[in-house]
Amino acid sequence: MNIVLLGPPGAGKGTQAKVLSKEYKIPHISTGDMLREAVKAGTEVGKLAKSYMDKGELVPDKVVVDITGERISQSDAKSGFLLDGFPRTDEQANELDLALDKTGKKIDIVLCFKTSPEVSIARLSGRRVCPKCGSNFHIENMPPKEKDLCDYCNGRLIQRNDDKYETVKRRLVVYENQTKSLIDYYQKKHILKEVSGNLEVNALFCEIKKLFVRERLA
Ligand code: AMP
Repeated sequence: MNIVLLGPPGAGKGTQAKVLSKEYKIPHISTGDMLREAVKAGTEVGKLAKSYMDKGELVPDKVVVDITGERISQSDAKSGFLLDGFPRTDEQANELDLALDKTGKKIDIVLCFKTSPEVSIARLSGRRVCPKCGSNFHIENMPPKEKDLCDYCNGRLIQRNDDKYETVKRRLVVYENQTKSLIDYYQKKHILKEVSGNLEVNALFCEIKKLFVRERLA
């Protein structure tokens, strides 16, 4: 099953991707995670990406198309994949279709996460991440047991640069201007299904599982 998760930043795509990936045994492919890895490793791609990411802007299409194309061609993605945060522009969506066409694959379903800007802002600006093990926390909804320390590896929690209030607001504008048109793109292909990003993680997971059964995907 090839799945795309679409929706504004802070809609819960990443969290849901993790549980879906485990349930359906398909790799969770997050362009944001891959770019952050490249930044951490200090590669040329990472250096270029950082200058866009810190401002809440999109990294150039060519860069993300290349890393995603390479990732979905790996053997663990043969029987399916879950794309989180890609595509984000019309150009990326076209390139993805072309790449899948060449290998006789297609996207089976696009889950479009609906949520309000207020919810996105509250979720992202309160998010804290562990730079050591990648675990996520939230200062109000999911605080760590000990302030600023990771429950799992004791790493010191940080706020992502792009989770700062002003950058979050910019990311939401970028979503409206550059990504939202993809809803139309996938609606026309009859593969888009809306889900509520306001639901609690497990409740949404159950909804999505039922949806996959209804759509005869699982
Ligand atoms: P995310 O973790 O998905 O919110 O992504 C964090 C940041 O990485 C975004 O704000 C962009 O700067 C960059 N990024 C992630 N995915 C893409 C993409 N498909 N196209 C362009 N930039 C991206």
